[in-house]
Amino acid sequence: MFWDSDQPYPLAGAGLGYDQILAWLREDDEVRLRNLWDAADDMRRRSVGDDVHFRGLIEISNHCVRRCAYCGLHVENTKIERYRMTADEILACAREAKEYGYGTVVMQSGEDYGITVAWMADVIRRIKSEVGLAVTLSLGERPVEDLAAWKQAGADRYLMRFETSDLKLYDRIHPPLGNRKSDRFALLEELRRLGYEVGSGVMIGIPGQSYDTLVNDLCMFRSMDLDMIGVGPYIPHPDTVLGRDPQPLPPDQQVPNTELMTYKVVALTRLLCPQANIPSTTALATINKANGRELGLCRGANVVMPNLTPVQYRRHYEIYPAKACINETARECRFCLKNRVQSIGRTIGQGPGGRVRS
Ligand code: SAH
Repeated sequence: MFWDSDQPYPLAGAGLGYDQILAWLREDDEVRLRNLWDAADDMRRRSVGDDVHFRGLIEISNHCVRRCAYCGLHVENTKIERYRMTADEILACAREAKEYGYGTVVMQSGEDYGITVAWMADVIRRIKSEVGLAVTLSLGERPVEDLAAWKQAGADRYLMRFETSDLKLYDRIHPPLGNRKSDRFALLEELRRLGYEVGSGVMIGIPGQSYDTLVNDLCMFRSMDLDMIGVGPYIPHPDTVLGRDPQPLPPDQQVPNTELMTYKVVALTRLLCPQANIPSTTALATINKANGRELGLCRGANVVMPNLTPVQYRRHYEIYPAKACINETARECRFCLKNRVQSIGRTIGQGPGGRVRS
C-alpha cells in the first residue's frame, strides 16, 4: 500500500507523481483498483463530459517502407497483399461517415511514399470542400514539408504514437529509415508548430518495456500537453521480429500486455491529462471482444474509432492478428458501437469534437 487507506483519492492532478503512478501500475487488488476507475471516470465526466466522439477510420494504404519490429505491415512481410485506396474510394468512405453523423475521418496508412504530397493534399481538400468533416492524418514520419502542405490543404489533426519513451527500446523496435534518424518527439513538436492538434501514445506490454519506462511514458503525456492520447495493448504478430524473438525483461520488471494493465494506463492517462481526447482502442476490443470497448469508456476514454475501410481491404491492414471488427461493414461497425455507447448511458458526440481547453 502506498497511501494511507483513510485518504479518499491520492489521485488528483499534481498529487499523482512518479511513485503513485508506479504503485497504481503494480496494484492488483480489485477493491483498491475500483478507486482508480472511479476517479478516472469522474475526471472524464467533469473534464470532457458524457459525449463519446466517433472518428471514422479509413485505412487508406498498407504499403510501408519501415521495418518496425512490432507491426505486421513492415516492408519485409511478403505474406500480406498490398493495397492503396483510390481518391474516389476514400471520398466515398468520407461521405458514408457524414451520413452516419461522424464529425471526423482519420486516414491511416503504413509509411507509404506512393502517397504523394500532392495527391494527399488533393484528397484532404476534397474531403473538406465536398463533405465538410474534420480530418485527422496518421501516415507515419513524413518530411516536415509534406506535413505543412497537408495542414495548408485543411488537415486538422495528426496522430503519431511515440510507442515508448525508452530510446534504446525504441531503436530496437523501430529501426531508422536509411540514415534518417527517427525522432518522433521532434516531429510531434513540428506538428504542433504547424498548427495541428497533436495525438500520440504508446503500446502497453512491448517486450522490453519496464514499469519505470511506462511511468515515464505517462509523465511524457502530461508534459507534452497532448490533445489526443491513444494507448492499447501490444499484440504479437507472428510475422514480425518481435513476434518471433520477443526478449522480454524478467517478470518483475516486464509490463504485461494485458487488458487490466491497459485499463490502468487509460485511467492514469485521464487523471494526468484531464482534457485530452482518449480513445477506447480497437486493440483493447481485440483482447476483450465482449466488453473491452465499454470498460475503456468507463475508465477514462471518451472516443471510439469505427472502421470505414471497405471490407475487401480491411483484412489486409493487419498490424496485428485477429483484429476486432475485421469482417463487419462500416454500417455494422456504426450500429455495434452506437449500441455499446448507449448501453453504458453515454451520449454520442456531435460535430468535430476537437480538444477542449478551459
Ligand atoms: N504508420 C503509422 C500508423 C501505424 S498503425 C505510424 O507509424 O504512425 C498505428 C499504431 O498501431 C501504431 O502506432 C502502433 O502503436 C499500433 N500497433 C502496431 N502494431 C501493433 C501491434 N502488434 N500490437 C498493438 N498495436 C500495434
